[in-house]
Amino acid sequence: MKFVGAHVSAAGGVDKAAERAHQLQATAFALFTKNQRQWKAAPLSEKDCEQFKAACEKFHYTSAQILPHDSYLINLGHPVQEALDKSRDAFIDEMARCQQLGLSLLNFHPGSHLRQIDEADCLALIAESINLALDQTQGVTAVIENTAGQGSNLGFRFEHLAAIIDKVEDKSRVGVCIDTCHAFAAGYDLRTEQDCRQTFSQFDDIVGFNYLRGMHLNDAKSEFASRVDRHHSLGEGNIGNAAFAWIMADPRFDHIPLILETVNPDHWPQEIAWLKAHANP
Ligand SMILES: [Zn+2]
Ligand SMILES: [Zn+2]
Repeated sequence: MKFVGAHVSAAGGVDKAAERAHQLQATAFALFTKNQRQWKAAPLSEKDCEQFKAACEKFHYTSAQILPHDSYLINLGHPVQEALDKSRDAFIDEMARCQQLGLSLLNFHPGSHLRQIDEADCLALIAESINLALDQTQGVTAVIENTAGQGSNLGFRFEHLAAIIDKVEDKSRVGVCIDTCHAFAAGYDLRTEQDCRQTFSQFDDIVGFNYLRGMHLNDAKSEFASRVDRHHSLGEGNIGNAAFAWIMADPRFDHIPLILETVNPDHWPQEIAWLKAHANP
């Protein structure tokens, strides 16, 4: 069973995200539980949480079908202590919000070294940040997203993801989300079925499918191995449709949220229908 959807808006309240996903005939969705470009947000009220849970029940979404994304401001590998602490506090707050909403996953970008510390030190800081957040929350898995490697962002090599997981104490609450656009831009080819087999066999060797908690299905405006993060609609970019059909037919991608972050929300209903039509029975 494949869970397919898109990153929908939570404008007007987090419960509205479930309603919007339902309108797309999605069987999964992603959302921000607070404004992704601001540090502070009003705490979720009891009523917000109840309305969200009621909407998820009404439209048949369980926590396994929902992949919330954290704020873009957070850098869990920040080289400066004060800024690192600020990011860690914000991340713990994001994890706590997911816990309040009855969600079981939180998707985030690992972090950036800002050219002030080396990769290994930055990866260790990120792992430590995850350990702190897992200590202070319950029931929510920290889901590390691979990146395109733009600027000084880490997480563009599968080895980075593995190095972080290696230092996380509670392995039952850490996982990864693979964004196809980011992988392609980072130099993992996906243009043919053969490329897909090779890329995901590397992924399995280095990280392991047992850690896969979600996927972002995006075509790429950016060129192969360009380290540039530019999403495109499915079939319109440099990856092409073969990769998405291949993923949909492979049972290793069952039972996890498969989320579109493609550039044109008007295409989401057709993209979701197309993906569903290519799903293994
Ligand atoms: Zn992301
Ligand atoms: Zn993504």
